Amino acid sequence: MERTDYLVSGYLPTIGIECHVQFNTKTKLFTGVSNESKEAAPNTLIGPLCVGLPGTLPVLNEAAVERAIRAGIALNAEIAHFTKFDRKHYFYPDLPLGYQISQFDKPIVGEGAIDIHIDGQVRTVRIERAHLEADAGKLTHPNGADYSLADYNRVGTPLLEIVSRPDMHSAEEAKAYVRELYLRMLYAGVSDCDLFHGNIRFDVNVSVSSSFDSLGTRTETKNLNSFRNVERAVRYEIDRQIRELEAGNTIIQETRGWDDTKQETFSQRSKEDAQDYRYMPDPDIPPLEISDTVIETIRKSMPHTPTDVRTVLGKAGLKADQIETIVDYPEAGLTMIDIADKHDNQTLSTIANWVTGEILRLVKEGRFEYSRLTDAQEGLVTLAAMVDANQLSSTTAKELIEPILNNNANPEALAKERNLLQMSDESELVLVVEKVLADNPKAVADAKADPKAIGFLVGQVMQATAGKANPKVVSELLRKHIL
Ligand code: MN
Repeated sequence: MERTDYLVSGYLPTIGIECHVQFNTKTKLFTGVSNESKEAAPNTLIGPLCVGLPGTLPVLNEAAVERAIRAGIALNAEIAHFTKFDRKHYFYPDLPLGYQISQFDKPIVGEGAIDIHIDGQVRTVRIERAHLEADAGKLTHPNGADYSLADYNRVGTPLLEIVSRPDMHSAEEAKAYVRELYLRMLYAGVSDCDLFHGNIRFDVNVSVSSSFDSLGTRTETKNLNSFRNVERAVRYEIDRQIRELEAGNTIIQETRGWDDTKQETFSQRSKEDAQDYRYMPDPDIPPLEISDTVIETIRKSMPHTPTDVRTVLGKAGLKADQIETIVDYPEAGLTMIDIADKHDNQTLSTIANWVTGEILRLVKEGRFEYSRLTDAQEGLVTLAAMVDANQLSSTTAKELIEPILNNNANPEALAKERNLLQMSDESELVLVVEKVLADNPKAVADAKADPKAIGFLVGQVMQATAGKANPKVVSELLRKHIL
């Protein structure tokens, strides 16, 4: 895309995104307290370090470091050989320590880049860095109350903050980027990626400029937790900033929030006096050296990526929107890769069509989950082979999908039991064909004059066999007899 293609009323929008991913480690980043806080009652997952009791010391969680490296590899990024932790000071009731343990100048993940996918087109967004940090607590301000509630369960949860370069120029690109980050973290297995529970949250930096040589003043809209809200907030900010500039006003550098009810951003706090976090190296946590051996061992253990799924399905000739539907569900994507390893493209594309058609419908109706697709893989492969061998029509095959998925049914036995097997045996069909020809002399004459008229006779044979005749074999037989 040319930059002129992105212009909105003569302004070029520019977007950079920060994303916080919550790692699915068993325990917190610097203490052995449980990190599985989704169902826990408030303030039940707390250790001395979480509430900043004097004399407590942090110990780095190896599993979080391992996940950060996996995430970095999934972002095609450099992994640092030397990394350290810093204290980021601010005072707020959600932060009992009085500082956040984060990373300042030596993040664990350096520069990277990922491809984003929009309507079958590919664009690249660069990653600036990604650093590990401990999350803060959660404050609730009950409506009308003169107090706030603090829940410290989330204090110390391991987060990876992924910072992009300002490489996006439209709301669609911002949405495609956050979806791609989500997919990469999901496939890498580092996070539950539950958007509803805020396992992955996005801050969008948006500016508009009437010149290609300089960026406009940016605003940051914080804590968006869905792809759709990212898209809407970016679109809203682009329009709002252009409106302000056109009215002769200036854009104020500020932090904004997203009002989901009003579908608009609102001002939270001005950033005029730049925050001074007084970053300093955390003297309680020794710097970390990561060897090439460690990085390469993790690299070799990485599961398949969304890119692998796209490559495999693209080779089988699937359409872009079908591919993206499958990519959205890692279990489906990984099953397709396994099928591609073991079977031919015909089998792969037949099953892919079911996965994005009949099976997707069952998933949406709550009658199946893609996480169980691997168990049904063999049954589906057999079913596809039966269609390929003309033992089943593709329409009747669909009737067998649900029992295969949910009851582990044997496709061959089930097709026999339900009397669905196609008649493809010529010696059997030829008798029916001969009878139909004898009964329909007028149609035979028509077909002799115009081969297209053979359709009527095919229909008669299908009727005579209660739909079980293989239409392809039937029309070949008819042609042989008539022409
Ligand atoms: Mn952060």
